[in-house]
Amino acid sequence: MRQKIRTTVVGSYPKPSWLKYLSNVDEKIKEDAFKDAVRAVVKDQEIAGVEILWDGEVRREEMTSYFAERIGGFVIYGEVRVWGNTYYPKPAIVDELTYEKPLVVHEFEFLREITDREIKVPVTGAYTLVDWSFNEYYTSREEAIYALAKIINEELKKLVKAKASFIQLDEPALSTHSSADEIEIAKNAVEEMLRGINVYTAIHICYGNYERLFPHIMEFNVDQLDLEFANRGFSDLELLKEYSYDMDLGFGCIDVHTSRVESVEEVVNAIKLALEVVEPEKLYVDPDCGLKLLPRDVAFKKLRVMCEAAKMVRDSV
Ligand SMILES: [Zn+2]
Repeated sequence: MRQKIRTTVVGSYPKPSWLKYLSNVDEKIKEDAFKDAVRAVVKDQEIAGVEILWDGEVRREEMTSYFAERIGGFVIYGEVRVWGNTYYPKPAIVDELTYEKPLVVHEFEFLREITDREIKVPVTGAYTLVDWSFNEYYTSREEAIYALAKIINEELKKLVKAKASFIQLDEPALSTHSSADEIEIAKNAVEEMLRGINVYTAIHICYGNYERLFPHIMEFNVDQLDLEFANRGFSDLELLKEYSYDMDLGFGCIDVHTSRVESVEEVVNAIKLALEVVEPEKLYVDPDCGLKLLPRDVAFKKLRVMCEAAKMVRDSV
């Protein structure tokens, strides 16, 4: 029988503060520091009680450029301004996209060495990578997305070969373009990315207009949808009820936009709401999204509360 109400993370975690002093050191020291940072992040998650871990994405500066820098055909232009005063290095596709070297397999392999717990590997999906880049090579956006999906598929095959058993595609861009045509493109891209990948899979979609994703999103070829529910006071659970949701559910139940730490009782109540929609064996609880923007002690406390709440509900169902 499958375990009830499992606890996990979406991906990122606050980096240890000393990691920012790494800009002028040699590669060997940098690599040692990244490994120590991962050890610290993993230890935090283990102490908090998280059952399915990731490495906190300490090596990834940003979820688009990290991949673009490692895939042939991309260049990174300077910083582009988004959301007020936030800047990010926007990639551009300037040539045929090619798979040149592993993107995240090394992250997985190191984590496998240092923890016995289960691991979930988050990989930014082709739809989002193209959506957040300039396309100066392919005749259409769609063509670029499918070309990139094939490259992500190569990486996922390597991950499976390295014995990864749980892969999460991150597609935050999907909730900002939710016309039927766009959802169809994203669905085809997911199919291409997961072709021949016979392990457990999820798709994480950041908060946005979930109404327009349903019910089409339930036809995506993944085992689990991982969505942000705390963001709008869990009201989006109604959507799942309306469409008789029957996939596994990644239930975001911790607000990542506030430093206020939820009480155990609040999270227990939230998990009970989710259990009105899915069986406990199909429920995975996690924070709404990556935790990297929170202070580290706050992120740790939020995870600990989440795990305690999950345990309490698990013991009572
Ligand atoms: Zn998210």
